[in-house]
Amino acid sequence: MNTFLLEIVTPEHLVYSKQVNSLTVRGVNGELGILPGHIPLVTPLQVAPLSVKADGVTVSIAVHGGFVEVHKDKVTVLAESAELPKDIDVERAEAAKERAERRLKLQSKQDEIDHRRAELALQRAVTRIKVSTGKGQQ
Ligand code: ATP
Repeated sequence: MNTFLLEIVTPEHLVYSKQVNSLTVRGVNGELGILPGHIPLVTPLQVAPLSVKADGVTVSIAVHGGFVEVHKDKVTVLAESAELPKDIDVERAEAAKERAERRLKLQSKQDEIDHRRAELALQRAVTRIKVSTGKGQQ
């Protein structure tokens, strides 16, 4: 079979474990498509949806940073947090998005750490909203 094992792991739990046909992730250097037999590599990921094709169906999963490790017959994604579409609370993500946007508006750019934190919170919220509303595959 033309598949490889994909595991998505967070410090809390195993989010996903399945034989898949392909995986597309947003690495720090751009989009990366992984098919069976891909050369081994490790690369950091952006806060972005990843997209997985398995059994002829493509699903997107919200992955918040971390790394992808490509091994011979297995790909592991290690992230701080990750959610399947069905596990996302959209209202919570909408509230987090508004909160982050409010913070970004109020802050001066000098508060660099707070600014970066709010930007990342905004990216997580936007990623969750995209994945849960089925727009994670663009
Ligand atoms: P919030 O401000 O709503 O807590 P956050 O981006 O700060 O969002 P994280 O620190 O990324 O949250 O995640 C903390 C835990 O809560 C993780 O287990 C994550 O999977 C979960 N989580 C966060 N937001 C949501 C959501 N909208 N739907 C489902 N689970 C969520």
